Amino acid sequence: MTKIGLEIHCQLTNLESKLFCSCKANYRDKEPNANICPTCIGLPGSLPRLNRKAVEKAIIIAMALNCQTPKKLAFFRKNYFYPDLPKNFQITQLNVYGPTSIGLDGKINVADKEIRIRRIQIEEDPGRLIYEGISEKNLITLVDYNRAGTPLVEIVTEPDFENEKQVRLFLNILSDLLENLEVADPSLDGAMRADANVSIEGSEKVEIKNINSFHDCEKAIHFEITRQKSLVDRGINVPQETRHWDDKRKITTSARSKESELDYRYFLEGDIPWIIFEKDTIAKLKNNMPESISSKKERYISKYAIPPQVADVLSSDKFHSDLFEQAHDESNAKEIANLITTDLMGLLDTREKREQSKLNPKHLTDLAKAIVENVITRTSAKTALQEIVKSGKPLSDIISTFDLGNVSDESEILKMIDEVISEEKQAVEEAKTNPQTINFLVGKVMQKTKGKANPVITLNLLKEKILG
Ligand SMILES: [Zn+2]
Repeated sequence: MTKIGLEIHCQLTNLESKLFCSCKANYRDKEPNANICPTCIGLPGSLPRLNRKAVEKAIIIAMALNCQTPKKLAFFRKNYFYPDLPKNFQITQLNVYGPTSIGLDGKINVADKEIRIRRIQIEEDPGRLIYEGISEKNLITLVDYNRAGTPLVEIVTEPDFENEKQVRLFLNILSDLLENLEVADPSLDGAMRADANVSIEGSEKVEIKNINSFHDCEKAIHFEITRQKSLVDRGINVPQETRHWDDKRKITTSARSKESELDYRYFLEGDIPWIIFEKDTIAKLKNNMPESISSKKERYISKYAIPPQVADVLSSDKFHSDLFEQAHDESNAKEIANLITTDLMGLLDTREKREQSKLNPKHLTDLAKAIVENVITRTSAKTALQEIVKSGKPLSDIISTFDLGNVSDESEILKMIDEVISEEKQAVEEAKTNPQTINFLVGKVMQKTKGKANPVITLNLLKEKILG
């Protein structure tokens, strides 16, 4: 049987400062090596000071993934030499003196399949290596330590996945969950990175590193399963090793024989004392946790009768569910949920578009009202939404500037109806016995008015004309 496990590194991007010093946690868009201090580059004599907020955020993640939280936290040094690690050791967590990492033995359901979480640990991100040069011969490696010391949470699953599709689904769910918990913005480049362990029946465990996106994670696992199968089929032994994902060639290549835990010479980090939680710390954090995605979904369905599929899409997207929360009341919830999921999500489908959008919750409230009161049709509402996102102008201005208001003038609609009746003789005959066909004729009138005819008036006038 194919077994796949994941090690996911999630940066706590919503924090102000790094894990052990006061440098900015947001290292992005800065000159290389401008976001560093003696502590995060490990100068002799510097000492780490643990970021309390990082521990709190990590506890929240552990609780959301149904993990046990330990009574005490301990930190360890993981020793290895590599240019991206200025101290020559990474401060991380380990469970050799009992459970001392931030989370243990959790679980999460992914499409009716239970995925077990083995452990969650807090650790620091290393620096970043940038490779430059045109050929193998003059390849140079540049080091940027701006990222060194950024707070990370590593989530390790049991090998409970059977295929790449399950992995992708899990990563999407986890990403929504982290965003909903307000601990991270997983859409930032490099904020969420997954390594995968893959073994098929009869092979040793192979670790794949260097995977840069969820899409590539799916591809890398698929490639690795196929590679291992072809070796096993030919009676060739699949050795335990670490392989790198080559995102240009879309293959995995052998990196080095996997180091064992012993090679890292772990020992207790003596510069950070053991942390014992005060009695009510965890209870307090639990009480202040943001509402979970599943509870939001339930509420949307039971309180507002929003269809389950719409509630599902809306609740799992933090950006849009926040908009919904601010825009809706009891009376318009369904209409606003509809507007967001059918029209707005398509317009704001990337991070950049969301950042540039000028839309505010009041726009949605106004738009829902205009639809219900027949000031504007659904078709025109779509156009209005596009213009609002671009300019942020009030709805009333947009309706008059772009002439989007409903045509409610009966004489004007009657003119169109007469045209349609003379063009659609067969449908008109059918409509006399089949009420469904009337809707077809309403559609025809709509086309003539570019979607602006008041649908209720149009329907009534058509019925009067045809059925008498
Ligand atoms: Zn620093």
